[in-house]
Amino acid sequence: MNSNTAFESLGLRPEILRALEGMKYNTPTPVQQEAIPSVLEGRDLLGCAQTGTGKTAAFALPILQRLLPASPRKGSQRAIRVLVLTPTRELCSQVTESFAAYGKFTGLRVTSVYGGVSQNRQEEALRRGIDILVATPGRLLDLESQKILSLKTVGTLVLDEADRMLDMGFLPDVRKIIAKTPANRQTLLFSATIPVEIKRLADTILRNPVRVAVAPASSPAAENVLHLVYYVEKSGKGELLRHLLSEDTSSNALVFTRTKRGADRLADQLFRARIRAEAIHGGRSQSARERALAKFKNGETRVLVATDVAARGLDIVDLSHVINFDLPEEPESYVHRIGRTGRAGASGIAISFCGIEERSLLVAIERLIHQHLKVVVDHPFRSLLRPGIPTKLDNRAARPVNPRYMIPATELFRAV
Ligand code: AMP
Repeated sequence: MNSNTAFESLGLRPEILRALEGMKYNTPTPVQQEAIPSVLEGRDLLGCAQTGTGKTAAFALPILQRLLPASPRKGSQRAIRVLVLTPTRELCSQVTESFAAYGKFTGLRVTSVYGGVSQNRQEEALRRGIDILVATPGRLLDLESQKILSLKTVGTLVLDEADRMLDMGFLPDVRKIIAKTPANRQTLLFSATIPVEIKRLADTILRNPVRVAVAPASSPAAENVLHLVYYVEKSGKGELLRHLLSEDTSSNALVFTRTKRGADRLADQLFRARIRAEAIHGGRSQSARERALAKFKNGETRVLVATDVAARGLDIVDLSHVINFDLPEEPESYVHRIGRTGRAGASGIAISFCGIEERSLLVAIERLIHQHLKVVVDHPFRSLLRPGIPTKLDNRAARPVNPRYMIPATELFRAV
């Protein structure tokens, strides 16, 4: 199928198709396939997708098209009809450029406002009149309180990388901004992961949303990665990790915990056990994170303990192990996490620690990646509630492990 027919069948009009053709977009990505028709209909949307999946076009294309039927207004009579909120200046500029490229033949105007630069030029652009505004929350609120712009005419609101906004402490500002837009707007929320605060936000601002979830493009379960699971009680996870790291001293590892505090605590414990470890998470400054990452890359630090959001976008070559100290709440995060090992033809190991209370998370992961993790059966910190031992707590956990999915610890390194 050429670009016209593939994108046309999603309901896009010639003005937009022409721009896509020029950009050599031939086939819609999965998130575009699923999102475009619903956004065109005016539905709200909850999208679990990260950068790299084509999510910008997934919302920008139908949004541009929905603005088309109204005849373009002149200059300053234009009012902001679409607002896109992003956590960072970089994403703000990127999204603005995408709107400009996709909307090249539409006559619609887009501009961006973000902090850290003088507001004069942004003000001028706003005064000339725009249709689509892409903004970071702080600067937007500034300009709104100075009455340089109004959000009363916003018909569509997009929250992009919502989990990152949460991590950067922008959620109170985001809520203030939402309250200044009309209640009957269309709302689209994109987030790579859906932590509980984002779920709560989504529940309050989205009306009967369409849900779209896609794994990253460089997906899944990189074939050259060995996926292992250790059943271990919560209280034994620290000891098990130290045991694994002491067995194989040549490895480096990116270890994921669910919380910032958990990351700090674990890095401390490792450090006290003379394993060179450091934590990175949203509670540390950008420069501290960068320093920690540099030390990890040059081998000074052997273990980097991270939360999902802090690890986003980290590019680490030669990473031998990804260890899920805590299983992720969202199965998609598993794919994002392990996508960091086994890159570029190298083989890697993804290890997950699974406590009895995390069994259902493991089931969700296996369903998403269409494969069973191999269960390491003979390690010294086995959970007493491991599969095979009946327990009233969780029937699923009491099911014996299928021998096909078992792997003795002695076989581990031969198997890679
Ligand atoms: P995003 O996830 O929106 O940051 O997009 C990731 C990259 O994929 C960007 O460089 C886009 O230009 C590109 N892209 C998005 N959709 C398509 C498509 N359907 N065909 C080819 N490239 C695309």
